[in-house]
Amino acid sequence: MSQGIVEEFLSLKAETDADLLMMQCGDFYELFADDAEVVADELDLTISQKSSHGSSYPMAGVPLSELTPYLTALVERGYRVAVADQFDAEDGSKYREITRLASPGTLVETTDDDAQYLAAVVEGDAGRGESEYGLAFADITTGRFLVTAVDGADAAGAELYRFSPTELLPGPDVRTDDPLLSRLRERLDATHTLRPSDEFGSGRARHRVRDRFGESTLESIGLEGDSPAVQAAGAVLAYVDDTGLGVAAAMSRLQHYRPDDHLDLDATTQRNLELVETMQGGSEGSLFDTVDATVSSPGRRLLREWLTRPRRDRDLLARRHDAVEALASAALAREALRDRLDDAYDLERLASRTASGSADAGDLLAVKQTLGVLPALEEAIAGTQLETSPLPGVLENPDRETAAALRGELDEALREDPPKTVTQGGIFREGYDDELDGLIERHEELEQFLDGLAGREKREHGLSHVTVDRNKTDGYYIQVGKSVADQVPEHYREVKTLKNSKRFVTDELEEKEREIMRVEEARGELEYELFETLRDRVADHAELLQDAGRAIAEVDALASLADHAARNDWTRPELTDGDALHVEAGRHPVVETTTEFVPNDLHLDRDRRFLIVTGPNMSGKSTYMRQAALITLLAQAGSFVPARSAEVGLVDGIYTRVGALDELAQGRSTFMVEMQELSNILHSATEDSLVILDEVGRGTATYDGISIAWAATEYLHNEVRAKTLFATHYHELTTLADHLDGVANVHVAVDGEPGEENDVTFLRTVRDGPTDRSYGIHVADLAGVPGPVVDRAGDVLDRLREDKAIEARGSGGDGTKQAVFDLSSGSFAGEGTESRQEPGGATDAVGDGGGAGVEARDAAVDPEAADVLDELDGMNVAEISPVELMQRVEEWQSRLDE
Ligand code: ADP
Ligand code: MG
Repeated sequence: MSQGIVEEFLSLKAETDADLLMMQCGDFYELFADDAEVVADELDLTISQKSSHGSSYPMAGVPLSELTPYLTALVERGYRVAVADQFDAEDGSKYREITRLASPGTLVETTDDDAQYLAAVVEGDAGRGESEYGLAFADITTGRFLVTAVDGADAAGAELYRFSPTELLPGPDVRTDDPLLSRLRERLDATHTLRPSDEFGSGRARHRVRDRFGESTLESIGLEGDSPAVQAAGAVLAYVDDTGLGVAAAMSRLQHYRPDDHLDLDATTQRNLELVETMQGGSEGSLFDTVDATVSSPGRRLLREWLTRPRRDRDLLARRHDAVEALASAALAREALRDRLDDAYDLERLASRTASGSADAGDLLAVKQTLGVLPALEEAIAGTQLETSPLPGVLENPDRETAAALRGELDEALREDPPKTVTQGGIFREGYDDELDGLIERHEELEQFLDGLAGREKREHGLSHVTVDRNKTDGYYIQVGKSVADQVPEHYREVKTLKNSKRFVTDELEEKEREIMRVEEARGELEYELFETLRDRVADHAELLQDAGRAIAEVDALASLADHAARNDWTRPELTDGDALHVEAGRHPVVETTTEFVPNDLHLDRDRRFLIVTGPNMSGKSTYMRQAALITLLAQAGSFVPARSAEVGLVDGIYTRVGALDELAQGRSTFMVEMQELSNILHSATEDSLVILDEVGRGTATYDGISIAWAATEYLHNEVRAKTLFATHYHELTTLADHLDGVANVHVAVDGEPGEENDVTFLRTVRDGPTDRSYGIHVADLAGVPGPVVDRAGDVLDRLREDKAIEARGSGGDGTKQAVFDLSSGSFAGEGTESRQEPGGATDAVGDGGGAGVEARDAAVDPEAADVLDELDGMNVAEISPVELMQRVEEWQSRLDE
């Protein structure tokens, strides 16, 4: 029992897996040994030395009242911090216990307005499909608690990226899955916390969830008991309980969502489209940053959620569009609404703080004020065009009657100017509680008595220089100037002599003092008790507050979308269940805010589902394609879109991939990753998806690159049948439009002839057809690449133009490696084969074996001729017009000529 402070600290530290321990010692929270060094370093605290049992330990501390800011700062730097409080033992000694564990995902005091998700990810038990993952996301600052199950590690990664958790609890299987773990570490800015494996166990988790939310919860939210989603939920609950805060109480609702409710956006796509963060990392210049005009932090959080989790439900989206449309055209009413929103506090967060018992009187007042925003918004809507919009419905969602009653209750209870701490009195209005009123009245009487005492003593006893005051050591006293100190009456008892005065007490004063102390204590206790009761009343309504907060956030988010739409001339998209994406005069939502933007049309549908986008470097290909993705995404987030008109067939997912070369420049990616992601797209995309491929294949040698691009195009077109935009510098791909029905070419137009003195002028206009020249060679020339190289490049290009096979030129000499690309078949021959060659000279690859390429495998007949014969064979002469017949024959002749 005689262990010293430091020993106590070290043994508590051994009990917890927290990074740091702050232990109460009287009026301070102290840290010792290594922990002291860490905080001293992080937070600039002074280190002193504490000796204990002959050793000396570094020590650092903060006053009790400063715990919150220091704790917050440490946790926001990624530390998990345990707090031990001091208690009185029966025998009068002190002991300490860990009362709280604060971590990045469980910090109620966060200073950040963004959602703060604690996430768990767990791989489902074997037998249930080996790669089902359970995910749970809890924001304990607002009480939001969402769970889902997805197939495959990629989908799990994508969901995690969407929520961008601050802390992650990886399940036992995930912990040993190095590829998944390293991807999560690379993409998420989350602290990984390892919890005991049994907390992820299915039975235990199910029990915990039922225990918290009720026996029938799982059934009612459509979750099977053995879903890994339940395991993840259980692990989150166990962890939140362990933090020692009552916050779990605010997590009153478990929401189960299906990944199908939302647009599939893999992590790469979310990053490529720069939804909330740019490729460079900052938030400025992201889509969210550009469109966000919300006035409250809940509105901001919700808008962010809408953009990162776009929907597939047409009715829901139509309601958002209706609201945005009404708000966009009613500028005055919109401004009036936004004014009212200014008065709203963060109700979801207040709900959580009330539930955890950390709300103060100011917080309850904020609840009252914010509940008042609901009717105020309704008033602002009344009599305007907004009356017939979905907005009134949004505001009717929360239980308004109960909200009004709660507001009334708070209004009756709370004074308008509550004190900072809940123990200093002055919280409640007169008339709220009779007993409290009685105590306050008595307290005031006593104070008045004391206020008047000095004057009365002066008069009665003819004393000058008399004051009555109180301090900690002497209590109340009558202070008399030295010059008249010997004239005081008999019943004055001297308590202290000072330099210029003496202090006295009287029986009466002592009696009043005792009473005032008693009254003050009773008043403080009663007031605190009343406050706790009231706070509990409010906490009982956590769900209502969450609903009300959500409704207000929704109005804010909708008004924000409307505001941006109105200011930037955006238009309401027409959503259809079809396959088409028709955009007239579309713009890029972010680029248009900083550039004189040239609008462009875009037409995709079932019969024209694959566009090959060509054009020189910097002409605007990437922008054009991202614009298509962003317009679709905005439409499915419920927003208007930057276009003159847009018909958007709902998609189930957007997949983008940028070639590794472009990404390499940013030090991010490798060709391997590029191919993994391409593979993911080819597996995941469906007929209803939108796929954007930007220079895919560019990260490797040309022939590899073309072949991959070519094959991916065929696969996407023939098998997946997704709407696709593919920008490529492989001009060769443009011939695919002749072979595949759904493929069409567009190009970004430029002015200026290659080889001319003047640089090309970028027109930024997208036109049908392939780009007709290679500006790459022109650029190479401009850049000073030696003449012979430019000439040879032109040579090679000409051969490609002639639709002839081309061989790569080796370094010269016999037996150099050759790779041969045959355009007409779109395939390769001779990669790595030995072939003889004149030093420095080109040979025609269409040599000995007839046509080159894979088709030439058993080339008894020239493959081109075989094709012609096939076509001839399959032709039904009765169904073909004479003119067309002539054209066909002419085409065959020319093909056979080659
Ligand atoms: P590419 O992918 O063809 O190399 P980018 O799409 O990256 O070209 O565009 C190059 C530059 O041109 C970017 O800085 C972009 O802002 C600008 N740009 C692209 N499209 C337009 C447009 N329609 N109107 C105005 N500027 C554009
Ligand atoms: Mg580009």
